[in-house]
Amino acid sequence: MKILKVGDTQRAACDQCKAFMPVTFKLRTVPFSDGVGTVKNVLVGVCEHCDSVVVLPHQSTPLVKKQMDAQRKALESRVPAHMVDILNLASVEISGGTEFVPVLIKFYIHSLSNNEISSRDIPRYLDSELAKGRSQKRISIKGRLVAEEIDRLKDITSIRSTTDIIKAVVLKINDDVLVKKKIGMIKQLKNIVAATA
Ligand SMILES: [Zn+2]
Repeated sequence: MKILKVGDTQRAACDQCKAFMPVTFKLRTVPFSDGVGTVKNVLVGVCEHCDSVVVLPHQSTPLVKKQMDAQRKALESRVPAHMVDILNLASVEISGGTEFVPVLIKFYIHSLSNNEISSRDIPRYLDSELAKGRSQKRISIKGRLVAEEIDRLKDITSIRSTTDIIKAVVLKINDDVLVKKKIGMIKQLKNIVAATA
């Protein structure tokens, strides 16, 4: 296998130009073929005429796979069993069923990380009685942006562990939906249920 370097050139078929065109290898950020997500700084062959990416060299495929896996991998945290019960109860409260749990937790992570919901109380939840208990169940969250949003939430709250972030988010959901039954929040969540059902 010939290893290519940035700046190397060859000729390759360009779909846009419908011809064999001179191609230069460059580092580019390119979208996944399914359009969901991007691969950053990957060596690809770019058509000199129309600037479209026409070659993905073999040497770049491990990097593409690594970045795809990182963006798709589910985030898993072990939590006390009652936290899963809280999520199920809150989901039933809003949608009548438990199938809304993944959307509910992602909505909160997203909104807290963007300051659309205040994260001021988040660290306090970790001192509460409900934060205690052996971690015997697993919460799994899938999504391309979730890891990034959790990192942002860690910065905002100065909580370092991902599991603690998840626990605090669950207890925030408990407080909003089950304890205080915040009308505005429940209405907003019901709208999302209606939109995603
Ligand atoms: Zn072209």
